[in-house]
Amino acid sequence: MRTDRTFTMLKPDSVEKGHVGAILEKITASGFRIVAMKLTQMTTADAKEFYAIHKERPFFGELVEYMTRGPIVAAILEKDNAVEDFRTLIGATNPADAAEGTIRKMYAASIGENAVHGSDSDENAAIEGAFHFAGREMF
Ligand code: UDP
Ligand code: MG
Repeated sequence: MRTDRTFTMLKPDSVEKGHVGAILEKITASGFRIVAMKLTQMTTADAKEFYAIHKERPFFGELVEYMTRGPIVAAILEKDNAVEDFRTLIGATNPADAAEGTIRKMYAASIGENAVHGSDSDENAAIEGAFHFAGREMF
């Protein structure tokens, strides 16, 4: 299992607010190489599958509505210790708890609309990257 890749989505609120350029700048300035990237929109079925682990949670319906309401930027990122370092860069799920200078502290509005996704394990990074990208789209 490789440990140098993670998967991210700049969520619909980041695209709507025009924060894509600033967030990508912060990601690349933090040492992540973009391996794959696209503007795409998840269907309801896509979002239910992507977030299936949360299907029993009370926020699941809202999460699916939010993640499908507009385009996202999906990307695979490469760096040593990618998963952990990217989770540090984005900050806590709730921006109110996120450290100063983290992407969620700077750009997230709430625990629901929190600007970015970051994989939580090497295994999920591989699964989530493969959910959005074919091998020939990865560089
Ligand atoms: N979420 C929410 N309410 C909560 C917890 C999570 O709306 O109380 C949303 C939020 O968009 C979050 C996503 O569900 O990013 C996935 O939750 P998870 O606990 O996996 O947080 P993450 O890994 O994104 O920090
Ligand atoms: Mg998570």
